[in-house]
Amino acid sequence: MKFYFAGGAMEVGGSCVYVRVGDRGILFDSGIRQGSGRDPLPDFRAIQLLGGVDAILVSHAHMDHTGSLPVISKAFPQAPIYMTPMTEMLTRILLADSLKIMDRREDEIPYYNEDDVSGMLARIVPVHYMVPFKVLGDMIMTLYPAGHIAGAACINLETPEGTILYTGDVSVQTQRTIEGMRIPKLRPDVMIMESTYGNRLHANRQAEEIRMVQLLADYIREGKKILIPAFALGRAQEVLLIIRSAIQKKELPKVPVYVDGMVRYINRAYKLYPTYLHISLARRIMRGNEPFYSDEIVAVDRLQEARENAEASDEEYMREIYDTFGREPVSVVEKLPDA
Ligand SMILES: [Zn+2]
Repeated sequence: MKFYFAGGAMEVGGSCVYVRVGDRGILFDSGIRQGSGRDPLPDFRAIQLLGGVDAILVSHAHMDHTGSLPVISKAFPQAPIYMTPMTEMLTRILLADSLKIMDRREDEIPYYNEDDVSGMLARIVPVHYMVPFKVLGDMIMTLYPAGHIAGAACINLETPEGTILYTGDVSVQTQRTIEGMRIPKLRPDVMIMESTYGNRLHANRQAEEIRMVQLLADYIREGKKILIPAFALGRAQEVLLIIRSAIQKKELPKVPVYVDGMVRYINRAYKLYPTYLHISLARRIMRGNEPFYSDEIVAVDRLQEARENAEASDEEYMREIYDTFGREPVSVVEKLPDA
């Protein structure tokens, strides 16, 4: 086995690890670097010179692990792309959003277009957790829950030259939306592990939640308005559940909470795949209850849509996004209302 780190080593962002097993090339993740001032794309030229890509294995949907998939997949269209069904859904949403952003930046050359995204999405092979899956004829891939965000996987790949465990981003602690990492005893020959924040002591989650709720309560009492910028995928859902629970426990007064931006689409995706979520949140969804919103917590577009009296159900809406990206390239940008 030969390894080449095309991105994500000694840096945060652009995760992309290339492995050569015999005459085959396997890529673990294909992310993008955001705001680092460096080239946003991993070193794809080197990958081409080393022999190219025969299969792509994706750990989770964050853009620093998926953002350059349309580029590499266009160059190697015969390579299937493996990921969990949840990651597939989230990747669709994030890449549609990234197309919209590139569209707005007229001064820059976009890295990929709608056709590239649709083509890449059509090459995805969704694989569930814990199911050994044959890859490239003689290799066995198994995905294990990595915690971190919904659908995130640690990838175990048994090859004729040895076993590789690629962890991707992991969270050992259980969060409100998802359970912590769950992997059995494995004996890989090589482990590639994410180590961002690995050298820091972590804050106590419970203490941090209490601190946040107290801070919000103080500001609300002072009559202030609060803006919470949160990563749309993963973090925002945690924040919403903390606020929702605090209102229920009367630790916060009943104030209106508006949810805007891409968070709304991610929330919908979470609702469609409850089995990838924390068991108590999954039960809430499977009983037909709303997981994130309440009388106080509302999505901004719902208000607008209610006014226009034309609200599509969440499932219909997501089905539309899902169907749109697929076999033939069609306009996906128009399908997403402006965030
Ligand atoms: Zn991540």
